[in-house]
Amino acid sequence: MQSLFRNITDTLTAIYDRNEARAITSWLLHELLPEKTDYDILLLTENDTSITSTQKHDIAKAVQRLTKGEPIQYIIGKTEFCGLTIQVGSGVLIPRPETEELIMWLVNNYHCVNPQQSAPQNILDVCTGSGCIALALKKHFPSARVEGWDISQRALNIASQNSQALSLPIIYNKVDVIEKCQLHEHMSNTINTCFDIIVSNPPYVLNSEKEEIHKNVLDYEPSIALFVNDNTPLIFYEHITHFASHHLSDNGVLAFEINSRFGLDILRLMEDTGFTDVAIRKDQFGKDRFVTGVWK
Ligand code: GLN
Repeated sequence: MQSLFRNITDTLTAIYDRNEARAITSWLLHELLPEKTDYDILLLTENDTSITSTQKHDIAKAVQRLTKGEPIQYIIGKTEFCGLTIQVGSGVLIPRPETEELIMWLVNNYHCVNPQQSAPQNILDVCTGSGCIALALKKHFPSARVEGWDISQRALNIASQNSQALSLPIIYNKVDVIEKCQLHEHMSNTINTCFDIIVSNPPYVLNSEKEEIHKNVLDYEPSIALFVNDNTPLIFYEHITHFASHHLSDNGVLAFEINSRFGLDILRLMEDTGFTDVAIRKDQFGKDRFVTGVWK
């Protein structure tokens, strides 16, 4: 008898390494066969009578999509981020584990940076995508007013669905942060809003780095959320840093996720703009992945 688990794993090794193929197979089968235990799933055979023909059909369809390179998160329509189930679709970047570390840093350090205030009152997430950063911060700081900006209406629709599903209210706005007029308009609209935290995971992968990126990212995730022109790699950081210098409260925190190549450039940009305590922080893989600073 052929093992279903083994067969799917073998099929997926065409595009993933074996460990990843196993993890994806396990994730998929648990998702599509929620009543089965880990043990059941390992023992299933190709023609197992304990699974219905609809389930078999759904598994076959999902495997077909996976072998074309589509990320599992889009196929099952969700992922986990900081303990929250976040709905995702082809219009938004799939939340990454590194980004969870940025949330943890903010949650663990906000009160150290800002000892007069136990929790932030106003938070802005620029380039919010699925809303994962805004939602995770709202979960940790429930009394805060949280805004999420994105240029993409498709992303904002998914972000709003996530807010509703999780009962975490976020104020979403459609904003193109590198379109100066829109930013200025927003500056005057929000002139009275001083944020305690401005956070962003903007597009930062260089167009020239595309060759190093896995097919499932390149073919399926929105390039607008990922890539920047090689000639202007810091364009988002420049605009957001400038905006933050006008819209952060005293001891407000600016926190970025970054391309590991540009840690020093972003640190200098923030210091030159007047931020203090600017630091480059590493992710779990030891790569420079975040830059944070304080506005005094
Ligand atoms: N971390 C993502 C990746 O490497 C990129 C996210 C981004 O561009 N902001 O795929």
